[in-house]
Amino acid sequence: MREYDAVVIGGGPAGMTAALYLLRAGVRTAMIEKLSPGGQVLLTSEIENYPGFPEGLQGWELSDKFSAHLDNYELDRINDEVRSITVGKTIHEIAVGDEVVGAKVIVLASGARYRKLGVPGEDRLLGRGVSYCALCDGNFFRDREVAVVGGGNSALEEALYLARLCSKVHLIHRRDEFRGLFCYQDKCFKHDKINVIRSTVVEEIVGGDDLEALALKNVKTGEKSRLELDGCFIFVGFEPIMDFVPEDVKRDPNGILTDQEMRTSVPGIFAAGDIRSKMCRQVATAVGDGATAATAAFSYLEQMGY
Ligand SMILES: Cc1cc2nc3c(=O)[nH]c(=O)nc-3n(C[C@H](O)[C@H](O)[C@H](O)COP(=O)(O)OP(=O)(O)OC[C@H]3O[C@@H](n4cnc5c(N)ncnc54)[C@H](O)[C@@H]3O)c2cc1C
Repeated sequence: MREYDAVVIGGGPAGMTAALYLLRAGVRTAMIEKLSPGGQVLLTSEIENYPGFPEGLQGWELSDKFSAHLDNYELDRINDEVRSITVGKTIHEIAVGDEVVGAKVIVLASGARYRKLGVPGEDRLLGRGVSYCALCDGNFFRDREVAVVGGGNSALEEALYLARLCSKVHLIHRRDEFRGLFCYQDKCFKHDKINVIRSTVVEEIVGGDDLEALALKNVKTGEKSRLELDGCFIFVGFEPIMDFVPEDVKRDPNGILTDQEMRTSVPGIFAAGDIRSKMCRQVATAVGDGATAATAAFSYLEQMGY
């Protein structure tokens, strides 16, 4: 069994920052990432709110910079998916791909994934008009009519992104008020290609081989309608990825519970970024969590005399 002082699970902003801080403290570290490093940042068109980049930058540019920074240190990168963790007294065992890797400390940084609407047609028409990533699929809908469903920052940002490509974007939200930042709301409401539809839910995504329409219902009046279009982008929130995390690690429906030092309920296991139960899921907070988790993990290693 390969054994490390620290293993970071997830190569998004939280995981890459945790790995950086651990490596700089001289800790023998591996980072396990099932895809390319970057995490959700790779799904983001433009990041305008990460300090130090006043002009904004593309998501892939930021993730490349994070990853390049790690190249200055001796990091073992394991490119595979973690399936489970077995909690040990001194060494925790991580099942990844076909092997088991040992770790004195673990930083859980597997982030979050999109939440589904849970309506008929959503799964069947995925990739045939239904999408959860404007950056990935927006180009397929160039000069066509689409809907964005949701009322938070992601929905508003993605509606603005799609309005650059598509002929029309219907922004559908189940409430009257949007949750996203005022500056995004303002841009959306003033945009001549964005049609805002409030207090309305999608009851069904309708289509044969491809998406053809949305069956809508106004939650105030009960009135039902059908909106013909080519694509539907769903941004109704995220759920933490913690399927592989053992039950001993306490959680609530919003994610893993930690203290201020990012310690979980299991000694030697820390959590950082969007996997945590927390209020603000952003790159800046993920990076902060990663730095804190690594610092606490280092101090744990020292206290245990490792
Ligand atoms: C469309 C969109 C737009 C956004 N825009 C902004 C923005 O403008 N500004 C901003 O600050 N934030 C933005 N965010 C939020 C920001 O991207 C996240 O808060 C941040 O990426 C969280 O970082 P993380 O490292 O915790 O998790 P993630 O970025 O989710 O990274 C987790 C990583 O873990 C890996 N992983 C998961 N499970 C496993 C496993 N079992 N084994 C191995 N690897 C695994 C994943 O592949 C992923 O790479 C946006 C997010 C989205 C989706």
